[in-house]
Amino acid sequence: MRKIQMVDTKTQYLAIKEQVDAAIHEVLDSAAYINGKAVKDFAQNLSTYLGIEHVIPCANGTDALQIAMMALDLQPGDEVITPSFTYIATTEVVALLKLTPVFVDVDLVTYCMDIESLKKAITPKTKAIVPVHLYGQAAPMEEIMAIAKQYNLFVIEDNAQAIGCDYTFSDGTKKKTGTIGHIGATSFYPSKNLGAFGDGGALFTNDITLANKMAMIANHGQSERYYHDVVGCNSRLDSIQAAILNIKLAHLDAYNNARQAVAKYYSDAFASIEHIVTPAIGKYTTHVFHQYTMQLKGVDREKFIAHLSAKEIPCMIYYPVPGHLQKMFGNQNNTHLDLPVTNALTPCVCSLPIHTEMDAEQLSYIVEGVNSFFK
Ligand SMILES: *Cc1c(COP(=O)(O)O)cnc(C)c1O
Repeated sequence: MRKIQMVDTKTQYLAIKEQVDAAIHEVLDSAAYINGKAVKDFAQNLSTYLGIEHVIPCANGTDALQIAMMALDLQPGDEVITPSFTYIATTEVVALLKLTPVFVDVDLVTYCMDIESLKKAITPKTKAIVPVHLYGQAAPMEEIMAIAKQYNLFVIEDNAQAIGCDYTFSDGTKKKTGTIGHIGATSFYPSKNLGAFGDGGALFTNDITLANKMAMIANHGQSERYYHDVVGCNSRLDSIQAAILNIKLAHLDAYNNARQAVAKYYSDAFASIEHIVTPAIGKYTTHVFHQYTMQLKGVDREKFIAHLSAKEIPCMIYYPVPGHLQKMFGNQNNTHLDLPVTNALTPCVCSLPIHTEMDAEQLSYIVEGVNSFFK
């Protein structure tokens, strides 16, 4: 049996090696390493795939979130509402820009932003909401957009874990996650559902003014060469990464289908284990399973992990410390925050290996390994 890994980017590469190698060599021959044709082609293809007017590539997903907040002219002291139960990048950029992160809770079923908690967190200082499509399924965007409209707030979707996910509105229309808010931000970190062989990220919007502003900010605030109108940063997707992403984009739906098949296999296998709560899917969304995250009930998680580890089955905790209890946010000041679902999920979540290259032998071995813990 092949060694089991949380992600297996190597095997995925080998399956498309010829195409990828040719694309890389084309960039090498062109010598257009920065902002070459591959970058423009990829942005165009991704905008077609997502059904969005503008795609602005940048250096990584964290930068994408930062550039979005800069483009919205948020000012120090403005409040930005984000879930605490997410990867740190979402909230880190809020603090970096001297904005105030306001942590809200997540829904126990979807692990995404909880609407009641969001409503309670809105104050006159609130300027933006950053929902996260955690683990690969959508936050309740229709309700979030309605609240944003009512209070005149911006919405930046953190789509780093959910590229390719479909959201269905109550009238039946469908949109890709990342294209519903004012701005969508994503990451092409190698382990993401659409991963480069290095860092990468992108911003999405249908607003031409925002699109131009974000492109300008990502390029030193430059309007024409050596004329810098606003304070920006240097955040580029390089041509080699764009060429690789262009090849992989054509496989994205197949990759997401493969992840969904793994998730179904696990969920069917664990349905009768009372100590495991398998991931549930919101009724308005598909799930592209960036992670397969289950809850362990009445189980010593350390022992469970050690049991799997002895069988060389990796698993991970996403994330062991929620944002509001991180030292960088003055964890001592946040213990009063009422985030019951976040606090309940953190000690019991556990993510199993999920990626596009898992075979039947590996899957049955993992399921047997999990089952044997409960025998
Ligand atoms: C990966 C990730 C990011 C950051 O992306 P990078 O490309 O690593 O900077 C932001 N938010 C979430 C939810 C992520 O999973």
